[in-house]
Amino acid sequence: MLSVIIPAYNEEQNIALAAETLTGLFESENISNEIIFVDDGSKDKTYLEICRAAEKSDNVKGVSFSRNFGKESAIFAGLEEASGDCAVVFDCDLQFPPVKIIEMYRLWEKGYEVIEGVKSDRGGGSLMYNMFAKTFYKIMSRFVGVDMQSTSDFKLIDRKVIDALLSLPERNTFFRALSFWSGFNSTQVEFKVEKRANGTSKWNLTKLTKYAVSNITSFTTAPLQLITVIGSILLCFMAILAVQTLARYLCGSSAEGFTTVILLLLLIGGSLMLALGVIGYYIARIYEEVKGRPRYIVSRRVGKK
Ligand code: UDP
Ligand code: MG
Repeated sequence: MLSVIIPAYNEEQNIALAAETLTGLFESENISNEIIFVDDGSKDKTYLEICRAAEKSDNVKGVSFSRNFGKESAIFAGLEEASGDCAVVFDCDLQFPPVKIIEMYRLWEKGYEVIEGVKSDRGGGSLMYNMFAKTFYKIMSRFVGVDMQSTSDFKLIDRKVIDALLSLPERNTFFRALSFWSGFNSTQVEFKVEKRANGTSKWNLTKLTKYAVSNITSFTTAPLQLITVIGSILLCFMAILAVQTLARYLCGSSAEGFTTVILLLLLIGGSLMLALGVIGYYIARIYEEVKGRPRYIVSRRVGKK
């Protein structure tokens, strides 16, 4: 059986559309399936729509979070709920072409365990959004060591991978990169990002920045190593300056006045604070993980267990 996981945040207009499109598609292809909607604490009638869809067809079920926990949590809640032999993560706004699921499913039948959906181009989105996404993925690719430029959350994963991901003890996860990290026998399927069916994108610049920073720090310690590198460079620079200053002092023409002192103080103070900030961020991460709070809280559920 195939489980389709659909995170939904304020998507009341898209639920029925997504459920009908997918159900019809799977029926025509004769694939046994379940569709799991995860209502990520929506403020509109998303949950009501999910209940309606669940009433209409048996293959639809839904869970609802007590508040907005973010897409990442929604994906993991979906994985937890999934009882299929494989699962695919799908966006509620139908930006991923549904027929690609069939293509992925056929590849899974051939024995692949991770089938990555790869964007052939980024559809929609403002210029700024696209620029931001590009920069973020460049940094991420460098850190993770895999090309993340065109990855998406659109993936089909085998039961083995689902169980492996669910067994990870960490709370701050990054689904997109974790499927690379987990290894397994993987392949790719290219797809074109469609225009959003209804409504608007849930991301804004603050949300995206937070998402980017939290994903980088939850996946890699490279920023910490960067501090060491910058520190070493500064140290070399200071050594040269020290020699030069001493030499001039001995020659009787010492460096002039406060300007140099103030500049150096600012440089050292600034870089120290920046470094402390980065370290602080990692400590905050540790703090969050150590608290061991759940990734999400389910308040309601609908459909057959
Ligand atoms: N989403 C979610 N929680 C959030 C934000 C988004 O579950 O806090 C869902 C949203 O309902 C959609 C998917 O994640 O199904 C992708 O969101 P969106 O279309 O806004 O992002 P974009 O396609 O612009 O990257
Ligand atoms: Mg979208």
